Amino acid sequence: MMEQESMFDPRMAAETVSDPAARVEKLRREIEHHSYLYYAQDAPEISDAAFDSLMAELRELEAAHPELIDPASPTQRVGGYVGEQFAPVRHAQRMYSLDNAMDLDELDAWTQRVIEAAGRAVEFVCELKIDGSSIALTYDAGVLAKAATRGDGTTGEDVTVNMRTVRDVPLRLRDAGVAGLADSDGSVEVRGEVYMPKASFDALNAAAAANGKAPFANPRNAAAGSLRQKDPAITKGRDLSTFIYAIADERAVKAESQWELLQWLRESGFHVNPDVALCATPAEVRAFCESVAEKRSVLPYEIDGVVVKVNSFAMQRELGFTAKAPRWAIAYKFPPEEKTTLLRDITVQVGRTGAITPVAELDPVRVAGSTVAHATLHNLDEVHRKDVRVGDTVIVRKAGDVIPEVLGPVLSLRPEGVLAWEMPATCPSCGSPIVREEGEAAFRCVSMDCPAQALERLLHWASRGAMDIDGMGEEIVARLVESERVRDVADYYSLTEYELATLETGRINKEGEPIHLGSTIAAKLVAAIEASKARPLARVLFGLGIRHVGKTTGEQLAAAFPSMERLMAASEEELAEVDGVGGVIARSIRAFFDNADNCEVVHRLGRMGVTMEDAHTGDEIPQTLAGITFVLTGSLVESGMTRDEAGARLKAMGAKVSGSVSKKTGYVVAGEAAGSKYDKAVSLGVPVLTEADLLRLLEAGSLEAAGIEARE
Ligand code: NAD
Repeated sequence: MMEQESMFDPRMAAETVSDPAARVEKLRREIEHHSYLYYAQDAPEISDAAFDSLMAELRELEAAHPELIDPASPTQRVGGYVGEQFAPVRHAQRMYSLDNAMDLDELDAWTQRVIEAAGRAVEFVCELKIDGSSIALTYDAGVLAKAATRGDGTTGEDVTVNMRTVRDVPLRLRDAGVAGLADSDGSVEVRGEVYMPKASFDALNAAAAANGKAPFANPRNAAAGSLRQKDPAITKGRDLSTFIYAIADERAVKAESQWELLQWLRESGFHVNPDVALCATPAEVRAFCESVAEKRSVLPYEIDGVVVKVNSFAMQRELGFTAKAPRWAIAYKFPPEEKTTLLRDITVQVGRTGAITPVAELDPVRVAGSTVAHATLHNLDEVHRKDVRVGDTVIVRKAGDVIPEVLGPVLSLRPEGVLAWEMPATCPSCGSPIVREEGEAAFRCVSMDCPAQALERLLHWASRGAMDIDGMGEEIVARLVESERVRDVADYYSLTEYELATLETGRINKEGEPIHLGSTIAAKLVAAIEASKARPLARVLFGLGIRHVGKTTGEQLAAAFPSMERLMAASEEELAEVDGVGGVIARSIRAFFDNADNCEVVHRLGRMGVTMEDAHTGDEIPQTLAGITFVLTGSLVESGMTRDEAGARLKAMGAKVSGSVSKKTGYVVAGEAAGSKYDKAVSLGVPVLTEADLLRLLEAGSLEAAGIEARE
């Protein structure tokens, strides 16, 4: 990991800190670019939430550095665009945007502020925030005369011809509506949203895909794009709808409040959204927002929040407007499911099976209601495919309860000089070299000595299908690992009954003292460990947890290589020839045994008496020593075999191997520095074999063939 750290200084990433002016400039350019794509092209490249997140960062920076505020900054303007293909329309009354409340607390703060400013009780009207495109419809003497987009708020585009094709737009106001006008011959401008229902959006994009055309990013852009077509026949075919909710100048109607206005709009023949509420308190406002969030997904059209408005027009006039938005209304936005944040570092985690996973370390950021500081990047290919680099501003997504995900970098915000990320060469947990198996996305640490993988490996070894150490469950193994008494599977075999009996279970008794495992369980465990030594080689191979070596492969390997030593010496090609073992498994076995730590563990297992060679009852090895007991003493220096290994080979020929000499002992094999067992053999008249005799016997396959005298 050191390489990564030296590659990039996280302090530099926060241009925010070191050079706020540069960051502000970059953000403005980026936001302008996306606004253009969104408003002029109807083809955004990033989600609204990610866009809002960049905007929020810019707003925060401008607040912290007032000297950087600029009237041309995107924060100071109504976002929008006036195209050239439609005639411009200057709005008689500006079309404002809305200020946002990004969570319920901000919403509460706003309602409280409004109540304080009003100095009396305030009624609020809550409406769904339809995710469409703003539209203004002007009726002269009750007849539709003009339709215009919001544009930049001051000037919009004349889309009258196209809007006339939208079926729920009345071409003429109903009589009840006309009756409600202050001047029935005058002009009235209503405002609302033109939107595309989700189903129509899906159908439109499916058709686009079928014709090899680019799809629309979301229903809002589809609506805006469909409205701004040169050919009104295309707009007509797009299934647009409207919800109308406002009036440019409330003096044009005999309504005193938003609630009354909605009623007038309905009577006039406009499509008014039915999900509205008149709330007497901030608590009711909050409850409405919560209830809407729940049913959002079942609505047939997209919404991105709730618009809360002061009901009384008189009070609205008192509160007035800022440069961008009314003070008497706010858009409560649902928790965004995407945010942008700084990728501080990419670390790696070692999973329990040795898989090495890159993890994004993020500047903590609240996404979809919870704080995200880390996110998995899955594997190296994924890191490269997404091209995320330490120091990038990245887009993070978290939908509902879903695990957070890094979608990708905002490339134009990348600081200079950041390098593509590479996998470290060694395991951060144990320092072993990391390997990548061909055809696999994951890198792995295949060391058996890796603490990060210890628990899983130890449990696997003890499990029923493997060495079947009865009673060695997760709780005990976890305690053994924690107390550092057991690190690898060979450590099981040096555990003493005393160590186990005194092992703390992690629980405490009524007196608050730690509870130990106790002697009964300890004795059973020791017996179970002892019994496991006799499991056949196939189970040992399975128990080692070599990747891709399951039970069956273990059996096939043991059949082809009846001794561990031969298996460990086998080349990749030899291994690949075994039935059921292909190139991938052969490589994995080789990688396992090429790791010196693993070989050490296997040798230790052998020394502890765990089966390293199968005692064959089959045809290959004639059972010439059946019924004969051997005792091994001293060390076998010539062959370098351990006594256990030699014993296993004698057993393979049918012999019994015992630890003590008696009259019934067939032969004693005395290696170098043999002790009392040798003396006892001599005194009892038991024949003594040298190591050379033993090797001859193993080689020849029978006493007779080795020229050793048989005992009666
Ligand atoms: P806005 O859409 O967040 O809110 C204001 C608008 O809400 C009004 O103009 C009105 O049209 C609409 N609205 C819907 N229902 C309403 C109701 N019941 N009462 C009143 N108004 C209602 O603000 P905006 O300035 O129009 O646009 C900003 C939005 O555009 C943000 O959500 C932003 O993420 C998105 N955007 C995205 C990108 C991108 O690249 N993805 C780029 C630019 C802007």
